Amino acid sequence: MTMIAISLQSGSSGNCIYVETPGAKLLFDAGITGVQAAERLAFHGRDIRKVDAVIISHDHGDHIRHAGVFQRKYGLPVYVTPATLAAAATRCTLGKLKDIRHFRSCDRLRIGDAQVQAVPTPHDGADGSAFVVEAGAKRLGIMTDLGHVFNDLIHLVSSLDAVFLESNYDPQMLADGPYPAYLKQRIKGPRGHLSNMEAAEVLRRAAEARRLKWACLSHLSEQNNHPDVALGTHRRILSDCITLYTADRYRVSDLFTV
Ligand SMILES: [Zn+2]
Ligand SMILES: [Zn+2]
Repeated sequence: MTMIAISLQSGSSGNCIYVETPGAKLLFDAGITGVQAAERLAFHGRDIRKVDAVIISHDHGDHIRHAGVFQRKYGLPVYVTPATLAAAATRCTLGKLKDIRHFRSCDRLRIGDAQVQAVPTPHDGADGSAFVVEAGAKRLGIMTDLGHVFNDLIHLVSSLDAVFLESNYDPQMLADGPYPAYLKQRIKGPRGHLSNMEAAEVLRRAAEARRLKWACLSHLSEQNNHPDVALGTHRRILSDCITLYTADRYRVSDLFTV
C-alpha cells in the first residue's frame, strides 16, 4: 500500500498538508484559504471536494483559520478537539460549523482505510496534537509546532517511514534577527518551536532504526531561517542517511510517496 503526501503550504502564514491512502483523503490543518487549497490540490490532479476529513492540530490561526470555509464551501467534516475549537473561537472567526467530529489529543481515529493517531504536544496551543497516519504497513508523521523534543518524540519518529518535521529556526538567525525579546524567548522556549539543530538531532537518532526514508523539513520561519540554512544544518548532522526536502512557505510541494 502506498501513501501520497503533499505540503500545500507550511509556516506561520498558513499550514495545510494533504495525505492520501487508497481509501482515504485527508487534510491536516486549514491555515490557507479554501481557494488556495483547492488550486494547489488541483495542480496535482486532486479534487478538494473528495477529501474525507480536515484534521486540526491546534488552535493557532495558521492552522485553523479557514476551517469554516473548507467545510461550508467544500462540505468537509472538521475533526478538532473541544479545547482547540473553544480556544480558536476566541481568536479567529470560524463562522458556522455544522459537521464537527470531536477527538481527544491521544485518540486513534479511523477514516476509510487510514488510522490517525493523535499525539499530544507541549506547544503553547490550548490542546495541540501531532499526528501519525497509518495505512497498511506504512506510517507517516505530521509533526510541527512541537514545543520541544518531548519524551517519546525520537522513539515515535523512529517508528515512521516518513515525516513532516518542524525545523523552525536557526538559533543564530533568531538571536540576530528583528523579533522582540519576548518573542525570541517564546520561540526557543519549551512551548515554542524546534530549531534546525534540534530537529536534525531527532532525525539522526531516529534514523538509527533504519526505517525512516525521508523527512520534509516544515514550518520554517521566514525571518529566522532559510531552506538552505536548514538543509545545511541537517546535512551536517545527518550526512546522507535519509532523503531531505523542505516545505515551502507559500507554494505547493512535489507529490511525495511513502
Ligand atoms: Zn504554526
Ligand atoms: Zn502553533
